[in-house]
Amino acid sequence: MALDVKLIERLTEAPGVSGDESEVRKLIRERVTPLADSVRVDALGNLIAFKKARTRPGTGKRKLVMLAAHMDEVGLMVTHLDKSGYLRFDKVGGIDNRLLLAKRVLVGKKRLPGVIGVWPVHFLRRRTDREKPPTAEELTIDIGAASLEEAQSLVSVGEHACFETRSESRGGLIKAKALDDRIGCYILIELLRDRHPFDLAAAFTVQEEVGLRGASVVAHQPKPDLAFILEGTGAADFPQPKGAEQGRVPAMGGGPVITLMDRSVFCDRGLVRLLEETARRNRIPFQHKRPGIGGTDAGRIHLARGGVRTAVVAVPCRYIHAPAGLASLKDVASALKLMRSALRRLGRGGIPAGGAGQK
Ligand SMILES: [Zn+2]
Repeated sequence: MALDVKLIERLTEAPGVSGDESEVRKLIRERVTPLADSVRVDALGNLIAFKKARTRPGTGKRKLVMLAAHMDEVGLMVTHLDKSGYLRFDKVGGIDNRLLLAKRVLVGKKRLPGVIGVWPVHFLRRRTDREKPPTAEELTIDIGAASLEEAQSLVSVGEHACFETRSESRGGLIKAKALDDRIGCYILIELLRDRHPFDLAAAFTVQEEVGLRGASVVAHQPKPDLAFILEGTGAADFPQPKGAEQGRVPAMGGGPVITLMDRSVFCDRGLVRLLEETARRNRIPFQHKRPGIGGTDAGRIHLARGGVRTAVVAVPCRYIHAPAGLASLKDVASALKLMRSALRRLGRGGIPAGGAGQK
């Protein structure tokens, strides 16, 4: 099935900085409501779409499988309006200070265009000023307000700002912000179209980028038997700074990325095996995430209640946590095919033996 590239573009363009995912949630809600039996939003803002199993007479207790992707992206929050009408801000989630300079942003619900101000090079007197990027506390967003009063009429403290990036797809690639993790949200929407022989809870989570907060509660209510997390993960196959190792994995275009372990989880070995075998049988190229780096919602979901068997499948994306990244649409299609085939096998053959500590 062809990918709905327009939907990926809309998902990545929607603002959804951690703590204010309402616009992305609205868009996702519209899409999943016709595909699910019920949809609910919990107290933190996680959206969970339930789909009952395609029933087969005579089968025993049905399993509940959770698929999760996070809606939020890194961005900024307005913390203060200064007396001249400039906006002071804090970073929300992991953003390198160097990325902030001269960036176009959209502020608040009104999507007010602004720019993060930067001193032109010939105004910088000391060499050190050029070498060391200013911190977020030293920068301001300029919305063109001439006074504090004008700024106050347009923006309130606590409003979020996201990078202004138009999504574009060309030559099998998509360039966009927030590929981490709207790519996962897209795959999850597509998987909701299928009928599965187990009950499905599709969780679109909030506040992943600020410490996996939405995921901390999401697997306590529906009580899944096992879970798959769908992610956009950092590719490392581009020129690195001098001295760094080149050509690191995962690579964009190299197929979906399966996590063995990261800083938040040891993935369930049985589910990892299921994914790897499914990929081999279907001739889907795949790669492993470099162990020990980063963390995902899996870090919380596998610890819910008595423990949930959990695995992670990701699309490799270049330049995550930045105003624009790149991903291969072929990788998106392969990740979708891998998940679709793995879920089908899961329905046929039950859950493979395993557990995080068992190889
Ligand atoms: Zn992510």
